Amino acid sequence: MKDAIPYGRQSITQDDIDAVVETLTADYLTQGPKVKEFEDKFAAYVGSKYAVAVNNATSGLHLAVLALGLKAGERVITTPITFAASANCVRYADGEVWFADIDPDTYLLCLKSTKKLIESKPKGFFKGIIPVDFAGLPVNLEAFRALAQEHDLWIVEDACHAPGGYFTDSNGNKQMCGNGNYADIGIFSFHPVKHIACGEGGMVTTNSEKLYKKLASLRTHGITKENMAENHGGWFYEMQELGYNYRLTDIQSALGITQLSKNKAGVARRNEIADRYKQAFKNKIKFQSLPSKTQNAHHLFVIEVDDRKGLYDFLKSHHIFAQIHYIPVHTLPYYKEIGYDNANLNNSENYYSKCISLPMYPSLTDKEQEFVIEKVLSYIHG
Ligand SMILES: *Cc1c(COP(=O)(O)O)cnc(C)c1O
Repeated sequence: MKDAIPYGRQSITQDDIDAVVETLTADYLTQGPKVKEFEDKFAAYVGSKYAVAVNNATSGLHLAVLALGLKAGERVITTPITFAASANCVRYADGEVWFADIDPDTYLLCLKSTKKLIESKPKGFFKGIIPVDFAGLPVNLEAFRALAQEHDLWIVEDACHAPGGYFTDSNGNKQMCGNGNYADIGIFSFHPVKHIACGEGGMVTTNSEKLYKKLASLRTHGITKENMAENHGGWFYEMQELGYNYRLTDIQSALGITQLSKNKAGVARRNEIADRYKQAFKNKIKFQSLPSKTQNAHHLFVIEVDDRKGLYDFLKSHHIFAQIHYIPVHTLPYYKEIGYDNANLNNSENYYSKCISLPMYPSLTDKEQEFVIEKVLSYIHG
């Protein structure tokens, strides 16, 4: 194989191109009808009441903690095995980030560790939890909601890896990631390595009308033409709170709409690829476990190996560009410096010493995957 095989990549086809080109000659490049259409279709897809399109998921996370009223010094729990943005949003609001450990088999924020951390502190110490559907595997939010309820916490589901993923609740109902039934707010990313590519982009979902209005206002400077105290004419608006410009454009939304329409097939293909990896590695290599009646949306396919750097370099020499997800957030220099380094997060650190993400994207061909599998197995077995 001479072409490089990355760990993830977007799939752009003619219908995507046509949709974007069409918006370029339409009346609106931004703040037009495509944004609302994308929001409505996205909400329908995940099963939430509301969706707010934003310029990226990091902005979405920022808006989420602001809408939930996070204030300076307030504390939020998240997982160390995530992209830094899941934690950074708390810092944007001058909150404190606390980390609980992961489960060593699912690699998700561990309910037990989270409960233990919460119960080791006085009531009211924490304000919220940000669990992450890591690699595309949905967190059991029904269980987290019960814990959150007990301690009066909000939940922001970082579902950036998981559009199309679901778990099954105790009543046997499928719960799609980001549907807002158990979390207050869900967050999705449309960065090109994620399922739906908009260049940059994100979506914030919720079932709460109050949160929806707050998110929509904060996304666009806190400026409104509705519910004004006074109205001096058609030009008039009020800025009722300090917001941001976190808007998505119509150009990006048009791409998001066509990309979204292919996500179901994309997730199915990702699961086919995962099944082939699992078949090849069963009883040989450890991979992320799958709780029953759960659909992993498979942003990633992660395995654990003892000589991780060796495998990474070996694959690279064959033009297979695996990746590591993630360096534990609490060990990043910024977080070390502000004193989050002394936590007892052995599962996360042990996981990080072994994890490696193999190529996983719908357009990965069977032949390419066979090549990857063959190289991985040949390295492991010498
Ligand atoms: C990609 C990602 C983000 C940030 O997404 P952007 O759209 O790039 O801002 C946040 N959380 C997780 C888990 C991610 O993977």
